[in-house]
Amino acid sequence: MEIAQFQFSLFGINTYAVWDPATNKCAIIDPGMINEEEEQAMENFVSRNNLTVTHIINTHLHIDHAIGASFATKKFGAPIHTHPDDLPLGERIDEQARMFGVQEKVENVKIDRLLKDGDVIEIGEGRLEVIHVPGHSPGSIALYDKKDKFLISGDALFANSVGRADLPGGNMNQLITAIKSRLLTLPEETVVFPGHGPATTIGREKRSNPFLI
Ligand SMILES: [Zn+2]
Ligand SMILES: [Zn+2]
Repeated sequence: MEIAQFQFSLFGINTYAVWDPATNKCAIIDPGMINEEEEQAMENFVSRNNLTVTHIINTHLHIDHAIGASFATKKFGAPIHTHPDDLPLGERIDEQARMFGVQEKVENVKIDRLLKDGDVIEIGEGRLEVIHVPGHSPGSIALYDKKDKFLISGDALFANSVGRADLPGGNMNQLITAIKSRLLTLPEETVVFPGHGPATTIGREKRSNPFLI
C-alpha cells in the first residue's frame, strides 16, 4: 500500500493515510486534526487523490492520536477501530485534555469496532496486520504491511527512543519486552513510521536504539 504522513500541531502528532492504489480504499491512522485548517488538509488530500476512506484506526487512545477521530468518522463515514484495552482512555478524552492543558473543545471517542492481536485489516486489496504492543498504554497496537514492508508503530517505538510508560496503564518492562519480541523480530528492512518524529527501520533500531540494546 501507499502511505502519506501528516504532522499536526498537538504534540507534533504524525497522522497517516494508508491506501491501496488498485482500489483507492484508504485508512486514516491516528487522526490528530485539532482545528479546521488541519481537518481541511486531510479532506483535500482525500479528495485530490480520489480516495474512499473505509477505516479509521487508532494505534491507541491518547488525546493527540484521537482528537480528530470524531471529525473523521463524521466527515468520511468510516468506522473507528481500536484495541479494547484502550477503551477507558477513549471515554476520558476530556480528562486527558485537562491533564495536558489542551484548550480546544474535545469529544470522547466512540469506538465502532475492536481489534485484537493477529487481526488482519483489509483495505481494498491491501492488508494491515494488528500487533499488540502494550506498555505505553494497555491497548497500544502497531500495524504491519508485510507486502510493502512498513510498520506504523504508534507511540511504542520511535527513532532512537521508545514511548513513555509513566501515563495511566503504562509499564516500561512490558513495553520493552513487547517491542523486542514482536517488533524487532520483523525483517530488518521494514520501514517504521512512528506516532512522533521521523521514520526509521527495524534494523537501525535493533542496532542503535539506546533503550533496546
Ligand atoms: Zn501516546
Ligand atoms: Zn502520541
